[in-house]
Amino acid sequence: DFAMYMAKHGGKGRYQLFDARGYDEMTYRAALRADLATAVQAGQLRLDYQPVVDLRTGGIVGVEALVRWEHPTLGRLSPADFIPLAEETGEIGPIGSWVLDTATRHVAGWRRSPGTPADIWVSVNLSTLQLSSDRNLAALERILSQPAAQADKVILEVTESALATSADGGVGALNRLKSFGVRIAIDDFGTGFSSLSTLAVLPADILKIDRSFLSGLPGDAPAAAMLEGILEVARKLNLAVIAEGIEDTGQLGLLRSLGCDMGQGFLLASPSPSPVLEALLTSGSRLQPPAGAAASAAD
Ligand code: C2E
Ligand code: MG
Ligand code: MG
Ligand code: MG
Repeated sequence: DFAMYMAKHGGKGRYQLFDARGYDEMTYRAALRADLATAVQAGQLRLDYQPVVDLRTGGIVGVEALVRWEHPTLGRLSPADFIPLAEETGEIGPIGSWVLDTATRHVAGWRRSPGTPADIWVSVNLSTLQLSSDRNLAALERILSQPAAQADKVILEVTESALATSADGGVGALNRLKSFGVRIAIDDFGTGFSSLSTLAVLPADILKIDRSFLSGLPGDAPAAAMLEGILEVARKLNLAVIAEGIEDTGQLGLLRSLGCDMGQGFLLASPSPSPVLEALLTSGSRLQPPAGAAASAAD
């Protein structure tokens, strides 16, 4: 067996695999690839949920499901460590279906707890291979067709770059999914290849502004102007907006003053396991409510 351990590499938040006996990266990728093939069946995947907040009230309106892999020897792996590999091997199909199925079950459970807002939605990230493969798409449709999944309270997140790789820009697949009542969000907006004009042709409902737009705020005037422009275009195209990666009160204040609908970020809440989210929702907590707003939803 491999004596594997993880070490943080260069403080960049990315992990690299090292081995005391000198196995190279290729060997590890091959091992990880083999392990990934059984991860779903072995029950090694977990979901964390990060609240999405209505910036006018601080109330939680939805959650984003984020997958993690509890590897038997390497410990907890983040999606950046295994999603690209899963896309390479095709395992992203079963993994993606597991994520949608599990997330909709969790949220259905929360909705039965007293105090949880009945219209709370759940957002799930999709890979390009889930849209471009008929088999994967059909698997998603099977899950969404079950009434318990409450497809009208599901948001599917796709990135601009993922859409760019499919022939029709993913429009056909997205429309098929939308026929079940789901909403579509463009994730990491601003980091892909496409321009603002792409938004006009995509069947999108929500724009998630990538956190790179927030990094210099509120001090960076050009960055603030960009943000304001994106919000203006989104409003004209009838797209709701979620700002990603809100880490400080300065960013939050600026987003509020620009009229951004919703936000997500470590300042508001970090991703947490299902029981933590359920407790947060039933308590009616508001996260960073604006001055003057009540601290509890119970009023
Ligand atoms: P994403 O969809 O843009 O998700 C947001 C990521 O930003 C999450 O990282 C989240 O933990 C992190 N984040 C949230 N708030 C903050 C903040 O205030 N500051 C900073 N610096 N980061 C913040 P995570 O969980 O590591 O996920 C990374 C990416 O992996 C996701 O980016 C998404 O593209 C992908 N991913 C996650 N789950 C799935 C999945 O089930 N399927 C697929 N295909 N991809 C997934
Ligand atoms: Mg996302
Ligand atoms: Mg994102
Ligand atoms: Mg992002």
